[in-house]
Amino acid sequence: MARYKDEQCRICRREGQKLFLKGARCYTDKCSISRRNYAPGQNGQKKKKLSEYGTQLREKQKTKAFYGVGEKQFRKYFDMASNTKGKTGEVLLQILETRLDNVVYRLGYGSSRTQARMLVTHGAFEVNGQKVDIPSYLVKAGDVVAVREIRKDNGTIKLNVEANSARPVAEWLERDNEKLSGKVVRLPARSDIDLPVEEHLIVELYSK
Ligand code: SF4
Repeated sequence: MARYKDEQCRICRREGQKLFLKGARCYTDKCSISRRNYAPGQNGQKKKKLSEYGTQLREKQKTKAFYGVGEKQFRKYFDMASNTKGKTGEVLLQILETRLDNVVYRLGYGSSRTQARMLVTHGAFEVNGQKVDIPSYLVKAGDVVAVREIRKDNGTIKLNVEANSARPVAEWLERDNEKLSGKVVRLPARSDIDLPVEEHLIVELYSK
């Protein structure tokens, strides 16, 4: 388990950016990026010039890691985005952002997307009054995501609510701290998404 935790920081170090994969620790000076901002491994401190392909690949890997999505599912989202009106890269990010595990994280009920995913899988949430335990479930504008009545005493959720109640919530969401719920006011725009990625490079990578 310890190795797995370190793996997450290694991903950030490889990308040279904080991707906030570990919850509270990411906001402290224990963050590995604050202490060792160079790629992991023996040659990590040597600056390498990336090829065009390498740069595109890194942007894709960073996005996958940020949302905790595997290659197959990511490709599926890309195909969905390609078949949707709008800029493919932006639509791709919008799809990823509307995953239920991400929404739970954005509402502050999970300290990280990984923890939010675990809580969803364990049946802690409902969408529009119906239990949904699928982290990849995509929410729509108008949906209401809420902690299920029987899970309102869940210690992890309680701790997160306490820690995050003052944290501003994404503008496309509206949080109700009393009801432990959140409404999807509208779909997220690119400006709502704080992922430092050049999404057009992902589109170029898949268009080869
Ligand atoms: Fe680790 Fe820092 Fe990345 Fe969080 S932001 S996963 S603490 S390196």
